[in-house]
Amino acid sequence: MARFNRATWRPVINRTANGRTAQLGLVLHVQAGNSSPFGWFNNAESEASSDFWVSKSGVIEQYVDTGSDRAWAQAAGNRTYASVETEGYPSEALTDAQIEGVAQIYAWGARLWGWPLRVVDSTTEPGLTFHGIGGRAWGGHPDCPGEIRKSQRARIIARAAELLDTPTAPPVTPPPSYPSWPGRYLSLRSPYLRGDDVRQWQQRMRDRGWRIDVDGVLGPATAAVIRAFQLDKHLDVDGVLGPATWSAAWTAPIT
Ligand SMILES: [Zn+2]
Repeated sequence: MARFNRATWRPVINRTANGRTAQLGLVLHVQAGNSSPFGWFNNAESEASSDFWVSKSGVIEQYVDTGSDRAWAQAAGNRTYASVETEGYPSEALTDAQIEGVAQIYAWGARLWGWPLRVVDSTTEPGLTFHGIGGRAWGGHPDCPGEIRKSQRARIIARAAELLDTPTAPPVTPPPSYPSWPGRYLSLRSPYLRGDDVRQWQQRMRDRGWRIDVDGVLGPATAAVIRAFQLDKHLDVDGVLGPATWSAAWTAPIT
């Protein structure tokens, strides 16, 4: 039995008993309608159902036993992923209460089966995916749940991580691309390289706790910090702000 204790249990006839073969994660859907789909899912003629539904106000209903049974939401994807319908239309964003509800479901699945805390656009990878990605094999619903709700999956995962009290890796800030500096400036002979690129790197270093003047001048003082930084990060110690040293200010772990 795998019933979520925060959901109202409303079993439906549209299901395949013992039809689950894997627990890869959750598929996000949009209802394209309002109010509980229970009657529709409990009507044999509809040939449709889902594991869960979350209303705009955050009410959660569960229609099949997610641990063993297969709902009929995404065709070939029903065996391996659970499914959640969300009240409303593709043109509407999920409400905060809906994000909370879906996040609670996701945190529950993460605890029970190890659904990983990540967004995927996939029919095979574990995580929080979406209906449209499955194409015809998943019933041919390219607009489910729509761009707005698809983009809200990151918030759902972030909230699920909070609920699980699992620190996720901080988002990695990609380094700005290396400035196209003429090599002669990197030799630290006067005239020194100066400008906003240098200032950006200095600011980044200061934000990371290095004592450095943010003056936009790549002179001897900054070169001394570059050497210390290179030593600390096991880079070639040459005092030159080359590509590796540039990007390490964004990517190297802070130690
Ligand atoms: Zn759908």
